[in-house]
Amino acid sequence: MSTKIENVVIVGTGCAGLTAAIYAGRANLSPLVLEGTLPGGQLTTTSEVENFPGFPNGVDGFELMQNLRKQAERFGTRYESGTVNGLETAAWPFALKLTDREIRAKTVIIATGASPRLTGIPGEKELYGGKGVTTCATCDGAFYRNMDVAVLGGGDSAAEEALFLTRFASKVYLVHRRDTLRASKIMAGRVLAHPKIQPVWDSVPVAVEGVAQGAVSGLKVRNVKTNAETVIALKGVFVAIGHEPNTGPFKDAVDTDAQGYFVPASHSQVKTRTPGVFVAGDCADHHYRQAITAAGMGCQAAIEAERWLAEQGL
Ligand code: NAP
Repeated sequence: MSTKIENVVIVGTGCAGLTAAIYAGRANLSPLVLEGTLPGGQLTTTSEVENFPGFPNGVDGFELMQNLRKQAERFGTRYESGTVNGLETAAWPFALKLTDREIRAKTVIIATGASPRLTGIPGEKELYGGKGVTTCATCDGAFYRNMDVAVLGGGDSAAEEALFLTRFASKVYLVHRRDTLRASKIMAGRVLAHPKIQPVWDSVPVAVEGVAQGAVSGLKVRNVKTNAETVIALKGVFVAIGHEPNTGPFKDAVDTDAQGYFVPASHSQVKTRTPGVFVAGDCADHHYRQAITAAGMGCQAAIEAERWLAEQGL
């Protein structure tokens, strides 16, 4: 068991975690970053990022994360792989419980992100990321100019994705398993009034077609009332059936809302009810969910960690 006490342990290597590492590194805190199962986070599964400031021609998601990683390393960030199963905050320094070891830390920044929920239907995984199935209209919508696409889901995310896609796509099918939207009235009203959006009610997706060609060519859906199956010809499938925040191991230390997202202390986006424990990125934000907002929160969390350590005279 390591007896070393880390200044800052950052859990997560998405935009939030790595930006926190850049700032903590530059503050001379020699941060330790723990990498989980998806190093680089959600952006690594996106082919091109066109909305991250500073890249007029866009940037490959994987490349952006590699660059963030190198940038943090330049300022003394260290990386270790490991899955955190729990965070004990009753005693200080805090104890991060990993599968094979324990790490003790003066401050912890949790930047574990959220995972988009997927349907699990055939073709979805095979054609995910750059081949026509995606979970982010803001990231990928512009690639579907003048094409037909489908959005799966009936909540606010689906409504938002569908409305955003109308800027590019020729037609947006909204495939929902019931005949009323879960989305807020105002969003639902906009969706239903939009001439480019065609709801496909009472329908569940059955398969994404196009695996053999390596690109989406259609979506097979089944009407749950009639059991009839039809194939909609289209080029893009946007899955918007919700996200699962990766907050489970930290629920003893940080409050979560009904959907499992971290609830920061009221006066701050990144402070929690446990002084010295901070949150950043999609694990604490289901509203914006953008690379740049996650990076912003990572910056805030690192600055708060640095200030907290200074206040303790550490
Ligand atoms: P959500 O509200 O949980 O909606 C998920 C949708 O996906 C529901 O319509 C659900 O159908 C459907 N669904 C779930 N699993 C499915 C499956 N396996 N197959 C087919 N359909 C499935 O999730 P969300 O839309 O991401 O919203 C999450 C939270 O963030 C909500 O509180 C929302 O209000 C908020 N949000 C707000 C905004 C905004 O205010 N601009 C934007 C986005 C999100 P059922 O309806 O039948 O359950």
